[in-house]
This record gives sequence, C-alpha cells and structure tokens, in this order.
Amino acid sequence: MSIGKIGNSQYNNNKKNYYSEGSHTNHETAYILPEQLCTLENRNAIEQALIDTKTRVPESLKPYYFDYQNKHQRQFLERVNLIGQLTFLSYFFVDWFLLPDIATLSGILRLSLVLCTLLINSFIFRYCKNIKILDSLLPVYVTLAAAIWVELLYLSNSPIVSNYIYAAVIFILLGNLCVQVCFRYSVLTSFLISLVILQGVYRIFDYQDVIIFLLTYIPVLLLSMYISWNNTLNSKRNFLRVLLNDWNYYALTELAHTDELTQLNNRRQFMQVADQTIRKWPKYNLACLLMFDIDFFKKINDTYGHDVGDEVLRILSKITRNEMRFTDVLARFGGEEFIALLPNTTLDDAVILANRLCKKIEDHQVNIQNKFFFNFTVSIGVSQLQSQENDLTVLIKNADIALYQAKKNGRNQVAVYTCE
Ligand code: GH3
Ligand code: MG
Ligand code: MG
Repeated sequence: MSIGKIGNSQYNNNKKNYYSEGSHTNHETAYILPEQLCTLENRNAIEQALIDTKTRVPESLKPYYFDYQNKHQRQFLERVNLIGQLTFLSYFFVDWFLLPDIATLSGILRLSLVLCTLLINSFIFRYCKNIKILDSLLPVYVTLAAAIWVELLYLSNSPIVSNYIYAAVIFILLGNLCVQVCFRYSVLTSFLISLVILQGVYRIFDYQDVIIFLLTYIPVLLLSMYISWNNTLNSKRNFLRVLLNDWNYYALTELAHTDELTQLNNRRQFMQVADQTIRKWPKYNLACLLMFDIDFFKKINDTYGHDVGDEVLRILSKITRNEMRFTDVLARFGGEEFIALLPNTTLDDAVILANRLCKKIEDHQVNIQNKFFFNFTVSIGVSQLQSQENDLTVLIKNADIALYQAKKNGRNQVAVYTCE
C-alpha cells in the first residue's frame, strides 16, 4: 500500500508538473525515495528503528542510507584524513626531540606513509562511491602508522621510550573517533591497532609494565569504541529522521495540492502553477485555457445517486488526463467544473483539442457495475492569452464567458471567447 509519494514518480502529467514547478526547488535538502519504497511497512520500520536503541536501518533502505552518507560524510572523511596525515607527519618533531637516534628514520618513514596515503586518497576520494570503504580508510592508515611508530620506539635507545609509548592512546582515539558510518569497521580496526601496539609494548616492556600499560590503554580503547558506536548510531538516526521528515513533507504537500476524488490538481494548486507558467511564458498568443463543465450533472446525481456522480467525475478526469500533454496544467476547479491551461498552443489547436475531448466524452459509455449504462457530455469554453492582459484571472473569466455561451448554445459543444 502506498501512503505517500516522494519524488521520482511518474505519477501523472499534472503531478509531474507540480514536482518540477513546485516544492522541489524550495526544499533543496529533500531526500527522495522511489515511490515503490514508500510503503506502510517501510514507514513503520523507520518509525520503529527510531525508537529502537540499536537503530537498525531497514534492509531495503540500506542502499539509500549509504548513498545519503556518501553525500554528507564524504567531505568530512576526506578532511579528517588529511588532518590525521598532517598530524602524523608533525610528530616527526616530537621524535626529533625525544628519540634523536632514530629521527632521520622517523622522518623518512612518516613522510613515505603520508605521501602514499595522500596519493591513494586523491584517487579513492575521486572515484570511489562506496562510503564504507572511505569510512574505513583512516582506521587502516592509523593501524599502519601505529606499526611504524611502535617499530621506531623499538629501534630507539632513548630512555624516554617507556614514557613515550603511552602516547599510543592517540592512535586508538584517532582510529575510532572518526568512524561515522559502519561501527563494524571500528571493531575490526580497534583490534588491529591494539594488536600492533601490544606486540610493541611486549617487546619494549617487562611483564609488570605491560599490565600497567594495559590498565591505561583499555579504558581509552573502550571509551573511544563507545563514542564510535554512538557516532554511527547518530548517523543512522539522522538519516531516518531526514527520511521521515521529507516523507511527511511530501505527503502533506500532496494532500494540500491534490483533489482527493479525482487525484488532479486542486484549484489552489492550479492557480499557483498556471500563474507561474503564464508569467514565464514569452509568447502571449501561444497559451490557451479550457474550462469545461459536465452537462446536466445534477440529473446524473439525482437519477443514479451521488456515488455514481463521483464515478463520472473520476472517469472524466481520466479521459481528460489522457488527452493532455505533459506540460498542460489540468485541475478540478470545483464541483463538476474542470480547467486546463495549455501552454505553447495556438487557439486553433486548443479548439481542436476541446472538440476531440467533447467527442471522446460523448462516446464513452459509463458502465457502473453492469447495472447502469449511460453517456454524458461536457461543454467547453476556450480563451486565449491576450497581449495586454497577461493575467490568469482574465483568462479564466473569458473562458467562463465562453463556457456560458456553449451552455446557452445547447451544451455538448465548444465555444471560443472572442473580444468584440
Ligand atoms: P449544467 O448543464 O447547466 O452545468 O447543469 P448541471 O446540472 O451540471 O449544473 P448544476 O450547477 O445545476 O449542478 C451541479 C451539480 O454538481 C450540483 C452538485 O450537487 C453536484 N456536485 C458538485 N460537486 C460534486 C461532487 O463532488 N460529487 C457529486 N456526485 N456531485 C457533485
Ligand atoms: Mg454542469
Ligand atoms: Mg457547474
């Protein structure tokens, strides 16, 4: 069951028109799901996930989650990667002061790693669209950086090594705090970083000092993993909230702009879209308006009942919609009255269309549950945009005068407004 339509839909000519003319441009942050995914199940799943402490993104929405993160986290990840690389490079000066015996080696190794990762990043951030890969880059680099750093400490004879190794917590912090999209990678790289650091610690320290180091390291490891988990949870929540907000936004906009019975534009929406179309239209004598009204509709209601009358309104909208072009703006103007703005249409073409419409409707036999069979007709008034009066209300008024004339002339026919 579809409970709302969100973008991308091939809904109908007029709705499509509304999307391109209307709210999309005003609502640039809109995150859009294809119509087939706007189901009640998915909506319930989103609402449930937002309540749930684990905030699981429904399986069918995962590609959209990664796509959303790709749009919103990509830049952050690229920048934090760069800052991490520069930080790692700048620690050469710390090595220079604290471990002077391996300073040259430190410079060479640090520079090599940073140059390699910069090169890889410039390529990967340009071509890779997979946010999970981009998210895991920094923790992987941190693992490599930790390995280099631990090796430098091991090679150094400086007495400060046993204190300096406590700076290892920076690696685990950096590795975890920047993960935004996939907590699983954070677990994996935490394990790798810890493994690299611990094997270095075992080589440098004796048994007792290893215990003291672990007592310092483990709380920081757990804290950083918790923050990483929370970051990824917030990312998911943020995505689901945006999704739900935009879903609600479009559902409400649709309600406000659509006639419930016929699913055509309602009068308010017509006035807005038609006015915009006319204002934009450069050639005044190339836009026409049709106003049509069902003949003796009251009699249909009285004879067959109000429900059958409603069905006739639906049938009329369907026939009319099929006759219109993508750019025409069609609406139910009120009661059993319909209106259509035809941009880029000469008066002659508008009259041809109106006559074709009259004929189609006249020829269509209504069949209500094989119980009632009857035909109905419409009268149509046509007006054309005039040079001096580039105004929708005048155009409507003129079409209304023509419609009145068509009724007066005997109904089931087209009349054209002509200024005397
Ligand atoms: P004319 O040929 O002069 O247009 O005659 P008419 O009977 O079509 O026009 P009139 O204005 O006398 O009656 C229009 C009727 O349309 C009256 C109203 O009850 C009915 N109507 C308006 N809206 C709806 C609706 O949504 N559903 C149904 N079933 N009837 C409606
Ligand atoms: Mg009528
Ligand atoms: Mg009427």
